Amino acid sequence: MRIKIKNPDIMTLDAESRILSGVDIFIDAGMIVALGEPPEDFVPDETIEATNHLAVPGFFNAHCHSPMTFERGWAEDLPLDRWFNERIWVAESALTDEDVYWGAALAACEMIRSGCVGFNDHYFYMGEVARVAAQSGMKASLTWCQFGIGDDKEIGANLEGAVKFARELQNSSEGRVKTVLGPHSPYVCPPEFLTEIGRIASESGLAVHIHASESPEQVANSLKSLGKTPIEHLASCGLFETRAIVAHALYLSENDISILAQKNVSVAHCPITYMKLAMGGTDLRPLLDAGINVALGTDGPGSNNDMDMKEVVRMVTLLQKFYNNDAEALAGDLPLRMATANGARAMGFSDSGSIEVGKSADIAFFNMDSPHWYPKHNLTANLVHCAKNGDIRHLLISGQPVMKNGKILTLDEERITHEADWRARAMVQKNMQIVREYKA
Ligand SMILES: [Zn+2]
Repeated sequence: MRIKIKNPDIMTLDAESRILSGVDIFIDAGMIVALGEPPEDFVPDETIEATNHLAVPGFFNAHCHSPMTFERGWAEDLPLDRWFNERIWVAESALTDEDVYWGAALAACEMIRSGCVGFNDHYFYMGEVARVAAQSGMKASLTWCQFGIGDDKEIGANLEGAVKFARELQNSSEGRVKTVLGPHSPYVCPPEFLTEIGRIASESGLAVHIHASESPEQVANSLKSLGKTPIEHLASCGLFETRAIVAHALYLSENDISILAQKNVSVAHCPITYMKLAMGGTDLRPLLDAGINVALGTDGPGSNNDMDMKEVVRMVTLLQKFYNNDAEALAGDLPLRMATANGARAMGFSDSGSIEVGKSADIAFFNMDSPHWYPKHNLTANLVHCAKNGDIRHLLISGQPVMKNGKILTLDEERITHEADWRARAMVQKNMQIVREYKA
């Protein structure tokens, strides 16, 4: 399909950080083929009017648990240990595959409305999330979370099932769906289980997505029991030999930072969860200085509580300036790059993250009619600090219009909201059990 986008301003996020004014975008077969003048013989199948809209590379949510929309507002005002033990893992004991489908579909509607084109999801019954990705038109990197503490304690699939899922769905939905391996964390998974996953990753080439180093206690316990930090431990288990994403990584030693840099490990940073669960602040500057690919995520709606990447962009910018007492931290379009190109790279979608010829047409269009966009001294600052979700009128993913004029075209938003609502309420009324315990 050939699409012409008429007259938007463009936040290219290219190497020169160019912002273009009133320039047409031409798309063919999912790719951006020209900016400004059309290619020869270009006859669009569709033209989208975008005067006074800002075209922005779509966001990549580098760490989330999308079906946890079912636990939105279910675990409030609790620290991490009580959040897991008293509310989250208890509710998930009653989870079904159908719940996962409707929870992920609700999240997809929300992500599309916030300009998100791809998400990195770590959860259970992931075939259902793959179905949502297929239907919604979104890009996704999916893993079936594994605890490794006995098949009876896994949710829905053991390691064999999780690997089968990863092999069968790799590059499905025209390449929009990628699959990876997802051990939960070094604080739940036993060392021999992590080593086994490292071996499978190396043999199969599958990437790894894991949580680590979320609290000082986790680091202290790891040093005490293994003589290694969580990051050193994961490296020694062979988990960084293929593409890897570590969610959080808040408490790092200098050696941890050099391991992550040397092994090209991406870090998914989720600032709203850290604030809400009072997990402490962290300084991202040493990671960025070391060349680590730092991407941004919402984390699950049980701890965020929304899936709004635009909000994450503003929060991380404010938090890094405030926490480090450094007004120059995350300056200019850096936070936008973390939410776009860095996320795309972390998830293996390297042809996305900027608006340039030859890139995938993954573009959000912000309407700039509202008062908060004026004056336009600095469009980058307006986008980071002032833009709202509701400004987003259109979203293209791989050149496919997924939302137009504020209407989601690929999913039945009204039905999804209704189904997710009653099913989530039914889930928390079921017989729930304590299946495992969080101990730093
Ligand atoms: Zn997480």
